[in-house]
Amino acid sequence: MTNDLGVYICSGCGIGEAVDTEKLAAFGRRQLKPAACQVHPFLCGTEGVELIKGHLASGAVGAVVIAGCTPRTKTRAFDFGPKVVCERVNLREQVAWCQRPHDEDTQAMAEDYLRMGWAKAQKTELSEPLAELISKKVLVVGGGITGLTAALAGADAGYEVVLVEKQPRLGGFMATLKTGIPHHPPYTKPAAVSLTDTALAVAVHPKIQAFTSAHISKLEGQPGSFDVTIEVGGAESHHRVGAVVLATGWKPYDATRLKHLGYGLTPDVITGVELEQMAAAGPIVRPSNGQAPRSVLFVQCAGSRDKEHLAYCSSVCCLATLKHVAYVREQNPDAKVYLVYKDMRTPGLYEQFSDAAQAHPLNFFTFGEVVSVEKGSSDRLAVTVQGSVLGETILVQVDLVVLATGMVPNSADGEAIRALKDAELKAVRGESQTQRADAARAVESLKEHRGTEILNLTYRQGPDLPVLSQGFPDSHFVCFPYETRRTGIYAAGAVRAPMDSAQAEQDAWGATMKAIQSIEMAARGQAVHPRAGDLSYPIFQLQRCTQCKRCTEECPFGSLDEDEKGTPRLNVYRCRRCGICMGACPERIVSFKNYSVDLIASMIKAIEVPEEDEEKPRVLVLACENDAYPALDAVGQRRLQYDPSVRIIPVRCLGSVNIVWIADALSRGIDGVLLLGCKLGEDYQCHFVKGSELAKRRLENVSETLQRLQLEPERLQLSEVSIDEAGNLPALVNTFVEKVREIGPNPYKGF
Ligand code: SF4
Ligand code: SF4
Repeated sequence: MTNDLGVYICSGCGIGEAVDTEKLAAFGRRQLKPAACQVHPFLCGTEGVELIKGHLASGAVGAVVIAGCTPRTKTRAFDFGPKVVCERVNLREQVAWCQRPHDEDTQAMAEDYLRMGWAKAQKTELSEPLAELISKKVLVVGGGITGLTAALAGADAGYEVVLVEKQPRLGGFMATLKTGIPHHPPYTKPAAVSLTDTALAVAVHPKIQAFTSAHISKLEGQPGSFDVTIEVGGAESHHRVGAVVLATGWKPYDATRLKHLGYGLTPDVITGVELEQMAAAGPIVRPSNGQAPRSVLFVQCAGSRDKEHLAYCSSVCCLATLKHVAYVREQNPDAKVYLVYKDMRTPGLYEQFSDAAQAHPLNFFTFGEVVSVEKGSSDRLAVTVQGSVLGETILVQVDLVVLATGMVPNSADGEAIRALKDAELKAVRGESQTQRADAARAVESLKEHRGTEILNLTYRQGPDLPVLSQGFPDSHFVCFPYETRRTGIYAAGAVRAPMDSAQAEQDAWGATMKAIQSIEMAARGQAVHPRAGDLSYPIFQLQRCTQCKRCTEECPFGSLDEDEKGTPRLNVYRCRRCGICMGACPERIVSFKNYSVDLIASMIKAIEVPEEDEEKPRVLVLACENDAYPALDAVGQRRLQYDPSVRIIPVRCLGSVNIVWIADALSRGIDGVLLLGCKLGEDYQCHFVKGSELAKRRLENVSETLQRLQLEPERLQLSEVSIDEAGNLPALVNTFVEKVREIGPNPYKGF
């Protein structure tokens, strides 16, 4: 609690034209009794900022509340260093620009926000930066084109790199190719591919230590101090690294699952990868008889863009097939080549590669669907194509069928591996026969994950990265490419998304820069995105911990391990400061110096609740700071209006909302509570992966509390909002307020 707070109110940017700022200052002086309280017409200008700095330097004030624009802007102007608490009150976007000017409700809203900002500043403590010894080495896992590029990117930027490759030589899949996709003009022929220079540059770089025929047997710790054990031929070496780039590439989709396309029926149905390897080693032949094929049919999207197999486009198969067409044509100018596609995807200048292949009179490309591949006459294959441009079912007899199977990320599903290991243990040690039988069934359904570990993390939540439904270990593909759900570990190349080698090289640079950024931020004790620069971290009052494990289970980033009794153990550098553990903890023993159950509860208490008046309810909006809060700012920026009865409090994530805030608000007479969070589901936008989902689940249990308070459950609503939905927000907010009006005043008013 500080008693040297200064309050500075800006009347610029139209604020003074909507809010009586002098009256607001008088209210502040009367109610809050600050050490200083001034109105300034242009607070973010040099004179305004110097005024505040002068007060701080003279000791007239020790902390400041600035009522002006949204805290999302002018962060530099109002940065008074890590030793000054600076609380921003959003008077511009969320009062002056979205409410009726000089209205008593607008003025009351401004007063409430000033009091709430004051309450928050009173409860905010300064965070001391952590100062631990940080390793600045980067670990790169995978020695293909992505891994090699990442290693060189890191080393050339001055960071030491440890590279681990499981194969005996560097180069990965690219090193096995006959040629590559053309990346330079005229884009009409396959390009020579040579990784020798890159692999050599890695091998001789003084800052890179490369291990081949190697695997990671253990990776423990956290960003800045990961301890990795690398095993080569039974011998172990130990290294401390600061961050990790996962560049483990891809594997082809399992063609044995494509029985309808004839794979396994005859040796003359092969995959594109098999054709590539054959071409790299010698002539292309029919595996059944060793003779050169006179006719070849290529099947595109073999398993890709198909919900039964791979739901996504593998991005490079069309280009790889064009290369294969060129191989066949080069080997036999008279060969007949058929290519059946759903779409030919050759973006940008790659279109010239496609045009060049289609120009040959014996290359026949058609839109269509291959519905079956069977044994035909004279030892050939009979391929049935439907829906082609010719409009009728076509039957083609060919010597060789090549399936363009898709790219599957070479990842390991950490959560599934953990579930398998738990089930294996329970299948033997379960307390009852039923428990053991259930566990045995779980083992059976998860057995494909056995032995798939890559990183061998010692995290409580599993030994590898959590993956999305298609196996990609991304954590937020919309805002944070390269990001995985394990802080300090970044995915690059085809393990992150299907891509060609040119994209993979760019990806390697991107992920390596993120890894370096994470190391440097850890060295300063700062959080990485989305709360980049935040020095706070969760503090656990463990004396009151009941070992319920909610925090360890719900932390989306595996930041919490447990001791043998089940008490949480924070790995602070893994933490993204989302506050989900704080929202989860039923004992309310988790807090940050600048964000806590008590701090938000004090802000709620600072809201003036009007007397019983059906026309003037009071509605609390808890808005996620990542999407909903900026969208509410955008409402003001577009000069749209919403009901003046709302009071908005930004939260780090809806997952950080502790149910006690809702109980507090309703028991104080607030008529309704609206939670605005990110979108749920597979195309999720939640910046902390599953915060909105957790909040939704927790709210389902709140009805019990409401019933206990004899309140209508409709007084509580959770809505999903994305950042670009400012246009819909006033209607959403107003509809909720109307609903609350219809329900009538909260019976707890006045208590
Ligand atoms: S703040 Fe978020 S990331 Fe950090 S420990 Fe809590 S739940 Fe995990
Ligand atoms: S949620 Fe709270 S009580 Fe439960 S284990 Fe975590 S800190 Fe302890």
